[in-house]
Amino acid sequence: MNQQILGLHHITAIAGNAQRNYDFYTKVLGLRMVKRTVNFDDPGTYHFYFGNETGTPGTILTFFPWEGIRQGRTGTGMATEITYAVPEGSLDSWQERFQQHQVPFNETAERFGETFLSFTDPDGLNLSLLVPKQPDNRTVWTTDDVKEAVATKGFHSTTLSLRQIEPTAKILTDIFGYRLQAQEGNRYRFITDAVETANVIDLLELPDQQRGENAGGTNHHVAFRVANDNIQMEFHEKIASKGLHITPKIDRDYFFSLYFREPGGVLFEIATDNPGFTVDEPLAQLGSNLKLPKQYESVRTEIEKELPSLII
Ligand code: ZN
Repeated sequence: MNQQILGLHHITAIAGNAQRNYDFYTKVLGLRMVKRTVNFDDPGTYHFYFGNETGTPGTILTFFPWEGIRQGRTGTGMATEITYAVPEGSLDSWQERFQQHQVPFNETAERFGETFLSFTDPDGLNLSLLVPKQPDNRTVWTTDDVKEAVATKGFHSTTLSLRQIEPTAKILTDIFGYRLQAQEGNRYRFITDAVETANVIDLLELPDQQRGENAGGTNHHVAFRVANDNIQMEFHEKIASKGLHITPKIDRDYFFSLYFREPGGVLFEIATDNPGFTVDEPLAQLGSNLKLPKQYESVRTEIEKELPSLII
């Protein structure tokens, strides 16, 4: 059993309107909704999970859609870009697709010798599609509109914006087993060799930039992946021994979680592969029904009434 951090598990962001969020990620980007549940700490709010067919860790982007939430501000102390790997030769099709759907995007550009296309979702969240140098053989989820030749393969990386990178870099290298792979200007690329995909974190050093404000269109936290909750508890020890405050193990139904704020201000989570999204519905039906954690099942009718309507 691999004892290491296995790259990214999921990333969680904040959206406004639930329907708009659902439509963008499933229809425009062509992801699968693998779970429709509620925010366990605020059951009047949805929690959407988008990923590949099974919701493999490293493919999962999750949202809390809060209707009418104010716009957040991108800045330091948060993840400021989510990057998906896509097949070679697909960026032209994506540009056309974005044009068709009025998705704001930039000209393609290069970073560490790889071409990427940056764009924003309807809430202003920064994302990009990148053709990785290393082949990415993950199985993709396809739709009628987003076929295998263009479909996203899951995360390539995420970018964390920081006033100074050093304290965060130390967490990545000394605790998580990442190493500095390359530097381009103020962008420092860290990679773990524990896995072959979703294994890159870019730290962007912006000493003069304002701190970000966490609300609509910004990322809430970044979750790193471990194989199971025994290994997770070893990381609990390591992180606590550095004097950082870390939560106890929390049961999120589909994985177990630990949370801590790294010294650069980004909320980090460590999440497990077990038990996964098929724990409460079969693979073929993932995301098609509202799933509630046990503690809310008795008030399902009230919760369903409170949640915004959603056409799927
Ligand atoms: Zn999370």
